[in-house]
Amino acid sequence: MYEKVPHAGGVLKNYVAGEFIAGENLFANINPVDGSVINRVAEADGVTVDVAVKAARQALTGEWGRMTQSERCKLLHKVADAIEARFDEFVAAEMADTGKSFFQARNIDIPRGAANFRIFADLVTSQSSECFQTPTDDGRGALNYAVNKPLGVVAVIAPWNLPLLLLTWKLAPALAAGNTVIAKPSEETPATATLLAEVMHEVGMPTGVFNLVHGFGPNSAGEFLTTHPGVDAVTFTGESKTGSAIMRAAADGVKALSFELGGKNAGIIFDDCDFEEAVNGSVRSVFTNGGQVCLCTERLYVQRSIFDRFVAALKIRAEAINIGWPLDESTDMGPVISHKHRDKVISYFESAKAEGATVVTGGGIPEFGDDRDKGAFVQPTIFTGLPEDARIVKEEVFGPVCHIAPFDTEEEAVAMANNSNYGLAATVWTTNLQRAHRVAQQMEVGVAWVNTWYLRDLRTPFGGVKLSGVGREGGVHSLNFYSEPTNICIKL
Ligand code: NAD
Repeated sequence: MYEKVPHAGGVLKNYVAGEFIAGENLFANINPVDGSVINRVAEADGVTVDVAVKAARQALTGEWGRMTQSERCKLLHKVADAIEARFDEFVAAEMADTGKSFFQARNIDIPRGAANFRIFADLVTSQSSECFQTPTDDGRGALNYAVNKPLGVVAVIAPWNLPLLLLTWKLAPALAAGNTVIAKPSEETPATATLLAEVMHEVGMPTGVFNLVHGFGPNSAGEFLTTHPGVDAVTFTGESKTGSAIMRAAADGVKALSFELGGKNAGIIFDDCDFEEAVNGSVRSVFTNGGQVCLCTERLYVQRSIFDRFVAALKIRAEAINIGWPLDESTDMGPVISHKHRDKVISYFESAKAEGATVVTGGGIPEFGDDRDKGAFVQPTIFTGLPEDARIVKEEVFGPVCHIAPFDTEEEAVAMANNSNYGLAATVWTTNLQRAHRVAQQMEVGVAWVNTWYLRDLRTPFGGVKLSGVGREGGVHSLNFYSEPTNICIKL
């Protein structure tokens, strides 16, 4: 499959005003499985970003702006079809950039990347607007109704953990609502966004509607976008501290902002749970994609009467995770995204040990005796025995790790789960119906699951509270962010 990686050994270009362009500055795109260079990436400079923004602005009133909603939606369906027509290329590119398993790329990342365009193309046709009949003193009354208009030029800044899936989760509703976009994928994962630009070109997306700029954050494409006066809105998924930096950068332009940020998600396991289901669900919620999903659980709270049994069961399951070559279909977990990220994850492991953690399993770097030893692998890791103020219990690690602590009462479990600066997701495992509702509703998060994890209906509101985000995505919530309702008041 890696032989089929598109542009292997070549240069990934920016896509600006309908043209693929590269400049002087190239940076290496590294495969985290063995540290090899896949290809080089053209970093967009300030001039390139400026051309992209101007093209996007012009496109708002050009062919795209004149299209009917149904014409635009047909084009978005064509984008989905074209991604599927090049499915294997997208899978190979995503796997090479991230090292994620074939299972994950083939069954989750790329299918959702295509599906996002279909979902929002269909949903936008049922987006509603408000209408009020307003009484007036002269008795004639007035009719107020709102029409949805696009926000304008939207910068879409995406992270590396689910590269195509999360980029398109923002792009698709932005385009469905009639906006034009400049996409900036993570510098770690530039490949599938480049293929998407090719797809946009192939299906005849009008010039300037979709632009792609590669690069980094500060003093690079990211910052050039967030400070550009021609950008009306920034939609961002990534770390909370990056969100703060973007908020500051976008303040002068008073840009509309939508943020999906970090998490430190808790799972609560009551002794009345279905034990097997809770173990299965917790293995998935901790280790899926190497723990590099914002919704992954990093803190588990288990009722004391089943604590030892639960820790022992999770240890067995963690040790059975097959870490290895992503191309091997039996592989469950690949490396983390980069050596830099591995160093960060390992530094958290070291600080946990220094603070007195018990290492239930893992805690280091696996050894393979082959080229994978040059990669960025981390052992699936479980810690116990730390106080609630330990660094690894408070801060987001974003790796294959959890800390498990016991609790005695429901009140205590709720307090421990909510004792976080983050508030993205929580999972509750219980067979008691009243407790399920009671505890789920007390979770200070955007998404609370009961007896499941990562089950998503894409129409539902998605986002975080506290440091985990601003605003909601999903279904009409996404469409509402990308729309500017204009009220029309007609005197009757
Ligand atoms: P990151 O914040 O380092 O980078 C994300 C993107 O922002 C990249 O494209 C990067 O180049 C860009 N960027 C960085 N600094 C910037 C700046 N100053 N101005 C403009 N752009 C800038 O995040 P990451 O490491 O790529 O992703 C991991 C993080 O994302 C984790 O914290 C994870 O929880 C979070 N995440 C959240 C969600 C969610 O839905 N809440 C989903 C996935 C990931």
